[in-house]
Amino acid sequence: MSMDLTEEDATFRDVTRRWVNAECSKQYCRELERQEHVFPQELWDKLSAFGAHGIGIPEEFGGQGGSIVTQTLFAREFARTAAGIGWVWGVTSFSGAKTLTFCGNESQKKEFLPKIASGELRTAMSYTEASGGTDLLGGLRTTAVKGDGGWIINGEKIWSTGAGTADYLLLMARSDTEVAKRSRGVSIFLVPTSSEGITIAEMPKLGMRCVGSCSVHLDNVFVPDALLLGEPGNGWYQSTKTVNNEKLINAAFCLGMLDGVIEDALEHMKSRHAFGKVIGEFQILQHYLADMAMWQTQGELLVMHTAKLQASGAQTATESTMAKVLCSEYVSKAADLGIQILGGMGYSAETDMQRYWRDSRLLRIGPISNEMARNKIAEDLGLPRSF
Ligand SMILES: Cc1cc2nc3c(=O)[nH]c(=O)nc-3n(C[C@H](O)[C@H](O)[C@H](O)COP(=O)(O)OP(=O)(O)OC[C@H]3O[C@@H](n4cnc5c(N)ncnc54)[C@H](O)[C@@H]3O)c2cc1C
Repeated sequence: MSMDLTEEDATFRDVTRRWVNAECSKQYCRELERQEHVFPQELWDKLSAFGAHGIGIPEEFGGQGGSIVTQTLFAREFARTAAGIGWVWGVTSFSGAKTLTFCGNESQKKEFLPKIASGELRTAMSYTEASGGTDLLGGLRTTAVKGDGGWIINGEKIWSTGAGTADYLLLMARSDTEVAKRSRGVSIFLVPTSSEGITIAEMPKLGMRCVGSCSVHLDNVFVPDALLLGEPGNGWYQSTKTVNNEKLINAAFCLGMLDGVIEDALEHMKSRHAFGKVIGEFQILQHYLADMAMWQTQGELLVMHTAKLQASGAQTATESTMAKVLCSEYVSKAADLGIQILGGMGYSAETDMQRYWRDSRLLRIGPISNEMARNKIAEDLGLPRSF
């Protein structure tokens, strides 16, 4: 296992770090988050100017090129200050950019990828329904029925992050009920949010506050054939690559937030005084920080190792799941200890520790819950399927 970067990747990481420090400081992101339901257009434009939306999109389609290694490097550096606001970039990166790159046809790639890369077009992912997120197939009630020149979609999605400000939804629907296995007969569509029959409403939530997560109601929404992604009925299997990409980006986001937690905890331990000395002299607080540093190193090794494997074309379902579970649990524990180290100021909205704590909490639940993730890891080890 190695985290050695190529010269090109190391340069990209350093350039990104300088850009993050100059353009999206923690204070800037903290203030953006305070505006709660306002989409941070200025931040989106900064990301466009930096070329961030084109990361992972092939150059022939107007992107910056790069692989999952580049995506994880960017996600980590960005999340160090942005925390959950990082999803402003992340959602379109894996839902639109990667899914279209993986399973779009030539004309869909030509039509959409350059616009995503330039920041002209945003996408959101609409898979989860109220009837079940972990048991996504069991809970899938949204239907797509073939009509003349397209499909008629009916149903209701929840928690679709970024849907309120997206141009297209990457939407999963059941397109065939006469199937031997429920994983068959599922299709993925690019649904324009401007379509007649769509109602989108924001759902209040604990963290990631300026990137709205939404319910999406679809009432007889017509989607032309040209916006079906890949093969009809094969959507579940097509999603695998996107999901593995998403899990690893999630892990990298957690690692970036962990970097932010350690930075702030260390600074506070060196400057805050109690009983005539800096609190960094208290052994128990040193142990908290030492634990965080070990989690950071473990997380970094696993994320980089998996990213390199995935970039080489290897099957990384197990490793991506492991990276997502470990990094989400490490950052969650670290942010909690971080609040303890900062004392009352850790609970204050004037510091970032509470943001890391709130924003990282989600990643133990989604995109796959850590319980379900462990089920899959156990199954990959040869144990009987437990669900
Ligand atoms: C802020 C936020 C943003 C989100 N963004 C998106 C998005 O952009 N697009 C999208 O499609 N979805 C999104 N989601 C949905 C997310 O992926 C789901 O919440 C997640 O998959 C869990 O599903 P659920 O909430 O229905 O929980 P449930 O499936 O109801 O699970 C409840 C509990 O039961 C446990 N459980 C269920 N089955 C098993 C089992 N077999 N073994 C052990 N334990 C089990 C779970 O681990 C969990 O602890 C988002 C969610 C949130 C909260």
